[in-house]
Amino acid sequence: MQEADKLNIEPEENIAKAGDLGREMHAFIGQMYPLCRSITGAGFRETLSLVGRHIPLEIHEVPTGTPVFDWTVPKEWNIRDAYVKNSDGQRVIDFRKSNLHVVGYSIPIRATLSLAELKDHLFTLPEQPEWIPYRTSYYQETWGFCLSHNELLKMKDDRYEVCIDSSLEPGHLTYGEYYLPGEEENEVLISCHACHPSLCNDNLSSVALVTFLAKHLSTGPRRYSYRFLFIPGTIGSITWLCLNESGVHRIRHGLVAACTGDPGKSTYKKSRRGDAEIDKAVAHVLKHSGQDYEIVDFSPYGYDERQYGSPGFDLPVGCLMRTPHGRYPEYHTSADDLAFVRPESLADSFGKYLAVLNILENNRTYLNLNPKCEPQLGKRGLYRLMGGDLETGFDQMSMLWVLNLSDGGHSLLDIAERAGYEFNMIKNAAKALRENGLLMDTEQ
Ligand code: ZN
Repeated sequence: MQEADKLNIEPEENIAKAGDLGREMHAFIGQMYPLCRSITGAGFRETLSLVGRHIPLEIHEVPTGTPVFDWTVPKEWNIRDAYVKNSDGQRVIDFRKSNLHVVGYSIPIRATLSLAELKDHLFTLPEQPEWIPYRTSYYQETWGFCLSHNELLKMKDDRYEVCIDSSLEPGHLTYGEYYLPGEEENEVLISCHACHPSLCNDNLSSVALVTFLAKHLSTGPRRYSYRFLFIPGTIGSITWLCLNESGVHRIRHGLVAACTGDPGKSTYKKSRRGDAEIDKAVAHVLKHSGQDYEIVDFSPYGYDERQYGSPGFDLPVGCLMRTPHGRYPEYHTSADDLAFVRPESLADSFGKYLAVLNILENNRTYLNLNPKCEPQLGKRGLYRLMGGDLETGFDQMSMLWVLNLSDGGHSLLDIAERAGYEFNMIKNAAKALRENGLLMDTEQ
């Protein structure tokens, strides 16, 4: 019986759609961009509601004070307005112009201060004097403003009226989850952080990518079940793992999506295990992408892969990004804006994620049912199938490799790697052999 390929991707179709998709993702980033997100609060909720226009997101609210492993769900932070006014009443720093102007989680303050007193609470980037830095103070109650260094230099000795109209009170930590069931209960986890304010590559690129990936996957047959998480960084994954510990054994593969929209090359950070199927699948996709790329080993720093990969979980979750955090000057500054993320980079990242999932979905291990010497391919019409007809998507060598290595100990990805073929070629050869009764799936 012929079974449908999972997530079968037609390359030509992909290229045609990529332009539209990149522009759609970029437009979605533009919608989310103005919101003042943080690890809790209204901006995070509004972002989830925008995601919820694309996919049926389940919203979870976890009360402040909930113990989550060694951590505690923090107070909820909300902000309405903030400014620094000079003695003429002009807003020299204005939250309404950029939400990056306020240090995230700033406690409320109303005061009149000299410039010298105010300076203890002002943060700039002298080496990038046009850009506003992004700063937070989640776990120490304080307040502050961020501004460009050039703006600071313009501030005269004066009495300044300072206002941060915020609240830091018991409330909730919010996260969004979309579970997409497949034929198997075994899951693929795709996680992104959505806790940064107006920053595009470092968070919104991946919020858009994961949203569109989830929407795409919901339209076709799936072997695996998929779980998409939109969480605040660190505390969100810690909270999710604590509340869902009993189910994490179902996670077979996972990716943390971050920094997926900049023009740099793709970078993959391996899972803690280093040799998990996800690590091999991503390496294979990048190797056959025809583009420059980098693969780096796991380290216990970075995004939420460090929580998924903590020793008590050791989940096979890597991080597929473009330029990693801290390796581009725009990182955590106002220059990580809508111009810094590119539709074509978003589309390229999307295509790579899909190619990785295509491997996971179709990476079976087969048994050659005619293992004693080569089966006669001619009498089965298999030579005719190949006969230079590229539409079948495989050649004689790929078929011989699949027959030879399908001893129950090599997956199709193993075979592709050993034979030096692109995965889809091996997948197509295996499909033809299966349809001719020469292969048996070892897991069925
Ligand atoms: Zn960040």
